[in-house]
Amino acid sequence: MTRIKLYNTRSRQIEEIIPENPDGILRIYCCGPTVYNYAHIGNFRTFLLQDVLRRLLIATGYSVKFVRNLTDVDDKTIRGAQKENISLQNFTEKWTHIFHRDCEELNILDADVEPKAAGHIGEQIAMIETLIRKKHAYIAPDGSVYFRLSSFPSYGKLSRIDLGKLTTQSENSSGQANLADEYDRDSVQDFALWKAYKPEDGDVFWKSPWGKGRPGWHIECSAMSVKYLGETIDIHGGGIDLCFPHHENEIAQTECATGNPFVRHWFHSEHLQVEGQKMSKSLGNLFTLADLKNRGYAPETVRYALISGHYRQILNFTLSGLDAAQSALNKLKIKIKNLHKNSEFTGNEDEIFSSKNITYRHFNGAIEALENDLNIPKCLGEIFSVLNGDATGGELFLEELYFLCFILGIEKFIFSKNRDRESVEIPEDIAELAARRWEAKRNKNFAESDRLRQSLSEKGWNVVDHREAYDLYQQ
Ligand SMILES: [Zn+2]
Repeated sequence: MTRIKLYNTRSRQIEEIIPENPDGILRIYCCGPTVYNYAHIGNFRTFLLQDVLRRLLIATGYSVKFVRNLTDVDDKTIRGAQKENISLQNFTEKWTHIFHRDCEELNILDADVEPKAAGHIGEQIAMIETLIRKKHAYIAPDGSVYFRLSSFPSYGKLSRIDLGKLTTQSENSSGQANLADEYDRDSVQDFALWKAYKPEDGDVFWKSPWGKGRPGWHIECSAMSVKYLGETIDIHGGGIDLCFPHHENEIAQTECATGNPFVRHWFHSEHLQVEGQKMSKSLGNLFTLADLKNRGYAPETVRYALISGHYRQILNFTLSGLDAAQSALNKLKIKIKNLHKNSEFTGNEDEIFSSKNITYRHFNGAIEALENDLNIPKCLGEIFSVLNGDATGGELFLEELYFLCFILGIEKFIFSKNRDRESVEIPEDIAELAARRWEAKRNKNFAESDRLRQSLSEKGWNVVDHREAYDLYQQ
């Protein structure tokens, strides 16, 4: 088995990935989305990099159990359901469905287990009870339960945060910046494990030994990761913004409850910027996959662009970068197709999932780049440098390429035959509509071009724009 090396946020060193459990199964937990809105490309950058890591592990012979949760009860989901006047469950199911559809389009492998917070209230209450029993948590007069930070001296070691500089610590990702002011606390840094019921929670509450209420956000990951992966896991992933306080809190809760180390290897991916700026609602640059598809970019282009930077560096996402991603993908497809002509090769995913560990002869530079701290940009450079040389193809050559495309998650686009543009005949009325839309877009008449795109879509055709031309695909 190949050994993968990866930077560990905890030790600040690049370390080998070795499953701890004697069964050899590598246990991975990743913090999933809050299902209250479209996930944006910053979220997807993280999920895609986790997907590439998982694919790399599978394709190099590891057995992996991959758990990614869904946060379906917090301030944002409750507010969203109330606004639409539907039940929390109906609301979060709708957004879960949209998230799954986006993941499928981006070719993100399904998690082995995808637990939902609202489906694991009992496990969360049980963990909170243990923490209270062990004096790591206390009940406030209103019936909320807090983690007692002073009971866990190693708090802050992952993010190396200076606790002395902290004045408040709120559940920042649940959207309440000043939660600290609203709750009774022994000290300002303690965080909520259980939130007592408030009238604004409406019909969302569960019974607990401390009265009705709902779990705090952090406890779900601790409870569900212990349930599905055991007390110690091999890899825990998430965006760097989750490192503090969410992951610090996960460590505190889990280690105090179980008495064992929680995570052996922390895998954090860096932020995403859009056109050189921070992503924010006010700047209107929180792109979703749907936004980019509306601008004519195919999901595989979005995937390629989002994975093409090193995971430990900030990625500056730009529309011209997307154009470049599109042309790189097309170049790759054409080059491989030309090599394909002289070969009987057909890609086979079953071989990858049966842990066939191939030896790389032509593309050893590309696979080594991935094995050494998931260096995707270097891997892509190596692939192109081999293909730009005097590549002759052949079955083994194509097998290596197929495995690499699988790891990058672009195998369906590169090796699929039914999406071959030349082989599809385009009816005259469709071609005519598409030409009118292109003309409208070039004249910056976006309302008209959107209308025509919609009518093409209703007739079963999708259009993908490039800088100087467009392609039509049958749905
Ligand atoms: Zn989490």
